[in-house]
Amino acid sequence: MSTSTEDYLKAILELGEAGIRVTTSSLAERLGVAAPSVTGMIKRLSQDTPPLLDYEPHHGVKLTRFGRLRALRVLRRHRLVETFLVEALGYTWDEVHEDAEQLEHHISDRLEERIAAFLNHPCFDPHGDPIPAVDGSLPRAAQISLLEVAPGAKVSVARVRQTASDMLRHLDSLGLHPGVAVSVTRRDPFDGPVHIAVEGKNEPVIIGAALADSILVQPRQ
Ligand SMILES: [Zn+2]
Repeated sequence: MSTSTEDYLKAILELGEAGIRVTTSSLAERLGVAAPSVTGMIKRLSQDTPPLLDYEPHHGVKLTRFGRLRALRVLRRHRLVETFLVEALGYTWDEVHEDAEQLEHHISDRLEERIAAFLNHPCFDPHGDPIPAVDGSLPRAAQISLLEVAPGAKVSVARVRQTASDMLRHLDSLGLHPGVAVSVTRRDPFDGPVHIAVEGKNEPVIIGAALADSILVQPRQ
C-alpha cells in the first residue's frame, strides 16, 4: 500500500473521529492537496479490490471495513512511534508528530510488534490519543472536553487534540498535560474564555473556548 493511500485512509479516519464530515474539501484541507486530486484518489480507492472507500458523490466518503482496518493499523504505528520516541529516545511531545508521520509508513509488522512489546503494549500515546490494537479495537478514550465540564467538577486532562508543535509548547507553559488535575473555575458566556485551576499552578489559567474544546478530560476520584 502506498504512502499516500495510507495518508488518505488515516486522514478519513481522523476526520470522522473528530466529528468532521468527510468530503472532498475537508479532506483536501486536511491533507494540504488540491480538491481535484482528492477526487481522483477517492475514485481510485473506492474502485480497489477490495474497495477501501465507499464513495457516493454528494454523500461524502466512508471507509469500508477493510479500509478502516488499514487506517487503524497506520494510526497504531503512528501512535506507537510517538510513544517510543518519547519513552525511549527522550523526545518531547511537541517533537514527535512529524517524525511519526514519516515512520508510520516504513515500519514492518515485526518492528511494530517489538516496539509495542518494548513499551509494554501501551493504550495511549503521549498526547493521550488511544492506540488501536492489532485487531483494530480502540481503548476507551475520554469524550468530554473542558468546555463541557461544569464549574467545580474535579477532572484530569486525558487527551489533547492538538498536533502543532507551537500549540503543544503553549500547553506545556500552561501546565496542561495528560494526567494533570484541573477544574473549571469560571466560564464566560457566548464562547468566552474558560478559567481553570491547574494542579501545580498558583495562578488561574485562562484559555479560549476553542482550545478548551480540544482538551478532553475524565472524572477524577
Ligand atoms: Zn501525531
